Amino acid sequence: MSWEEYEKKLTELGYKEAAVEKIKPVFLFAGKTHEHEKRESGEPYFIHPIAVSLSIAHLKLDADTISAALLHDVVENQGVKIETIKKQFGPEVAFLVEGVTKVDKVRYRGVERAIESLRKMFLALAEDIRVVIIKLMDRKHNMETLGPLPPDKQKRIALETLELYAPLADRLGMWEIKAKLEDLAFPYIYPDEYKWLQDQIKERKAVGEEYLKTLKPIIEDALKKEGIEKMRIVYRAKNLLSIWRKLLRNEMNFDRIMDLIAMRIIVDSVEECYKALGILHKVWKPVPGHIKDFIALPKPNGYQSLHTYVFGPGKKIVSFHIRTEAMNEEAEHGIAAHWFYEAGGKKAITKKMDEQKFAWVRQLQEWQKEHADGGSAETLSALKIDFFKNRIFVFTPKGDVIDLPEGATPIDFAYHVHSEIGNKMSGAKINNKMVQFSHKLASGDTVEILTQKNKKPTKDWLEFAKTSLAKGHIRSFLRKEGILEVPAKKKEKFEAVMTVKDRLGLLRDITTVFSNLNINIVGTKSGALTREHHRITIGFLPNKKISHTKILTSLKQIKNVESVAIKEIK
Ligand code: MN
Repeated sequence: MSWEEYEKKLTELGYKEAAVEKIKPVFLFAGKTHEHEKRESGEPYFIHPIAVSLSIAHLKLDADTISAALLHDVVENQGVKIETIKKQFGPEVAFLVEGVTKVDKVRYRGVERAIESLRKMFLALAEDIRVVIIKLMDRKHNMETLGPLPPDKQKRIALETLELYAPLADRLGMWEIKAKLEDLAFPYIYPDEYKWLQDQIKERKAVGEEYLKTLKPIIEDALKKEGIEKMRIVYRAKNLLSIWRKLLRNEMNFDRIMDLIAMRIIVDSVEECYKALGILHKVWKPVPGHIKDFIALPKPNGYQSLHTYVFGPGKKIVSFHIRTEAMNEEAEHGIAAHWFYEAGGKKAITKKMDEQKFAWVRQLQEWQKEHADGGSAETLSALKIDFFKNRIFVFTPKGDVIDLPEGATPIDFAYHVHSEIGNKMSGAKINNKMVQFSHKLASGDTVEILTQKNKKPTKDWLEFAKTSLAKGHIRSFLRKEGILEVPAKKKEKFEAVMTVKDRLGLLRDITTVFSNLNINIVGTKSGALTREHHRITIGFLPNKKISHTKILTSLKQIKNVESVAIKEIK
């Protein structure tokens, strides 16, 4: 595709001259860089970055993201330096390209128990949601052009798509791309089932669509009569893989799947959604027990709609989804719907997102909450993924992902794999290079632990270890060897319970008070009391030299700490 053709597409999609002019030199540079490169199919390589960037443009993301999509393979394939990109196209584009290059390390190797950690590692390395979106579109195009690859490679990539990419799209509420990725992977993973299902579905779909076509004018009339003027009524088939999964849960009986095709009513306001539901139920009787209100109670990924099933003409059961345009946009494009490039508007990019409002943010925060031990629960700003900034994700030589706190060393890694590996550790390699035991691990590292039969932990390991798991094992070993004294009795523990108004950095300020007083924290908990107020509980081991009053007053002085009490944990 020539620049002129590409430019025309951007303009058609609503991109203004300033954005197009910004993209032009990137397009020419990327085209030149991939000039002599070919895809497996023999086609020029550049068609791939072009396709990926146009999918991004369809989502109406900003010029930097489109630029990064055009450049997403120049580092990996052609050895272009990030520095070069930074100099020529600016730090933002370079940052995004670097993110894409980093996540290329994350591969699904069929280790199922680590799949959730692998997804987190992907996000942690991406650092920016736009990087994730570029990778999703990259994967979509690769799946669409998977044909010429050898079968074992096809299968590996399809599995990775199903296990890693589609769930990430789902987490971000990007339903359309999720469904597409699943249906692209399906035939490579279950070829026979796919063929069978396609045959089965063809006629049912045609009959179903024919039937829904007859319902459309009836609904339109009914809504108009009740004063709803603006509406869109569309019907849409469920994606193949979800039909397949539903069949598996329903004894392979098509008759039990009532939403093979769903009718969608899109209206102007939330009020009209409920009104439309009422009207619909007047026209056709609802199936009892099947009305779902995802407007009042959105799904965890942010999805909102009213769902109902009605008995249509001829007693056929029809599935209906009722929503507003905004809900529809979010259902299709999820997170990408929130900061798209507004072609006609004053602001070019809506970057800031209201954390409270978007459920996908809460979903990501759920992930972070699993690591509430000592990590501060900061909120997300704009597009940066900093949920995992207190965690690092590293690989074992076999490709398992191990999830550790920031600052963890090979010692923590070793004990995390197995206490015996920790106790017999003689050396550590990171990315194939020998390192010191005190070396701090970074996300994406591959860590290999060397062991020797006669090796033993020493006292200095306690300083290098970051996790309580490793420290505990080292201590108990040293005690058995008589190197460390056995503690006389179980230590008493206390907790400080605070009512706070949450703010950025609050938890960090609180934990700083404890570390300044030389008091060891043994656990933190936090939970919402009301919309504004939270309860934070810090468990700690007392320091004989510090009185409780001192702790209380120090905590009370922190901004937004409204009340604090200390009690003993029995
Ligand atoms: Mn690519």
